[in-house]
Amino acid sequence: MNQKILEIENLTVSFDGFKALNNLNFSMDTGELRVIIGPNGAGKTTFLDVITGKVQPTEGRVLFQGRNLRRLPEYQIARLGIGRKFQTPRVYLNLTVRENLDLACNRNKNVVSTLFGRPSASDRRNVGGLLETIGLLAKADLPAQLLSHGEKQRLEIGMLVAQSPNLLLVDEPVAGLTDEETENIGELLLALAESHSIVVIEHDMEFVRQIARKVTVLHEGSVLFEGTIDEVQNDPRVIEVYLGQKPSITAQQMKMLRIVTAMAWSDGNLAPEEAELIIARFSKLFSTDAEQQHQLQTELRDYLAQNVPIDELIAQLESPEERELILKLGYDVINVSSRTPNEPTINEEEAAAYKQLMRLLDLPEEVVKRLEAQPGE
Ligand code: ADP
Ligand code: MG
Repeated sequence: MNQKILEIENLTVSFDGFKALNNLNFSMDTGELRVIIGPNGAGKTTFLDVITGKVQPTEGRVLFQGRNLRRLPEYQIARLGIGRKFQTPRVYLNLTVRENLDLACNRNKNVVSTLFGRPSASDRRNVGGLLETIGLLAKADLPAQLLSHGEKQRLEIGMLVAQSPNLLLVDEPVAGLTDEETENIGELLLALAESHSIVVIEHDMEFVRQIARKVTVLHEGSVLFEGTIDEVQNDPRVIEVYLGQKPSITAQQMKMLRIVTAMAWSDGNLAPEEAELIIARFSKLFSTDAEQQHQLQTELRDYLAQNVPIDELIAQLESPEERELILKLGYDVINVSSRTPNEPTINEEEAAAYKQLMRLLDLPEEVVKRLEAQPGE
């Protein structure tokens, strides 16, 4: 039996009548790493505030390991084993990295005894292990003020872990970080997820993709959708909430568009001629009406901005016709950029992506030959 670490039932939080959370239901297994996303104002921070006791529910309840947290003060909830990392790092800048961790390991002691007392052997081991986990062993004796923003974030995550919480709540850990630092934080959270239950709130979709197993989408104080990141990014309701406009294409059409777009993105760049080809072909495919096609062209442009892995999407294609269509469009996309004067040959990354596409589509060889020989429209 897998005990739930967190169960939230019919939770409503009103601020002067405005419902920041509105009859929200949520549950999470022990050991899970859950990512929560949602547009600004969706209620994400309030959600964490209720779990940590900073805000009291107007209605509904929060159960942590089966225990109702109602009316418990923040410090008691923290003692029960819920640790929270805020958006901005809160480390002691004048103390070294090691001293910050020592302090976090000994929350009951004060700064003076941590600095001048003798840490016990087991504390030493803990801190050593933590320094390694957060990748700051080499900087252990530097004052925290000399760390980069990303390193400070990792230190603070380490300080949180030092208090051995059963549940870690992490609010937007990669806001303002470089790509490399973002990836480091992602790896750290994945490592911690092997032995902790973690809730991460995040905006950065690429980061969400790096770490996410199951994603919960909040909107207007309630759960709008739950699923894998691929399901989330292809769900028409989620897209509507993020782009402020309901997609006029179906979820199935969206998947086809994403697969072909991934061919164009495989070299890390969406060339203008690739984008134009995709928009022109798909708008014709999705509508026969000239006026609608024209409107679709503007809309489809919004959906080209993301590069997504295609394995799961291809598995969801429904008919052989769709598979053939995707192969043909993928072939045309990787060929269109090679016809430009500055890039006379097919580029290698795109060729590799196309090979992978062929493998995943698994069409008979003669079909592939026929499709490749067909002129593009
Ligand atoms: P998110 O973190 O998803 O951006 P928040 O939880 O911060 O959303 O806020 C949800 C909504 O509740 C917002 O419309 C916000 O203005 C409102 N809100 C949050 N805290 C308060 C408060 N203390 N008083 C009044 N309104 C609040
Ligand atoms: Mg917030």
